[in-house]
Amino acid sequence: MAVCCYIVACEKTKKAAIVDPGGDEDTILAEVEKMGLSVEYIIATHGHPDHVCGNRKIQEATGAKIVMHTADALFFGKPEVENYFSMLGLEPSPAPDIKVEEGDDITIGEIKFKVIHTPGHTPGGMCLYNAPDLITGDTLFVGGLGRTDFPGGSHNELLTSIRTKLLVLPSETIVWPGHGYGGHQSTIGEEKRSNPFL
Ligand SMILES: [Zn+2]
Ligand SMILES: [Zn+2]
Repeated sequence: MAVCCYIVACEKTKKAAIVDPGGDEDTILAEVEKMGLSVEYIIATHGHPDHVCGNRKIQEATGAKIVMHTADALFFGKPEVENYFSMLGLEPSPAPDIKVEEGDDITIGEIKFKVIHTPGHTPGGMCLYNAPDLITGDTLFVGGLGRTDFPGGSHNELLTSIRTKLLVLPSETIVWPGHGYGGHQSTIGEEKRSNPFL
């Protein structure tokens, strides 16, 4: 689905999380096996089907727990929202096993992701922060922002999330976006300087 999927692993314990598997499940699973990782979590930066359509197959193969923000778990569980996206031919995620909120930690071996709730693209969109790395999902792209014309989107809310929660992080923070539209990696400082939407 042209989504940037991330495999995050603790080198010491070999525990891992897969963030946003939007298809190519066999490739992802082969990579995990090659690295000898045990996948504990499948983390959805948000509930859009392009980011979660690999969840079912990867959960079946690994037994990992699906993690999503509470607000997106609720929103994408609504029948009308499910219908809207299934009309586009995309498979929804199985119900999340773990719901998280602003400030929660997701622990993967010795790695700790801090949940930053960044609504706007979806009600429960979230970024994952483990300094200096920041996985931004569809909230912030390299030189761009997530679209807000899908149900549950709000452009003002998205801008507020980015300005108050992401641009306040150290400028050397590495941005890992949910799509590589403008590039696959940036920094908060670079986005502050050059992102035309901010
Ligand atoms: Zn999205
Ligand atoms: Zn997306």
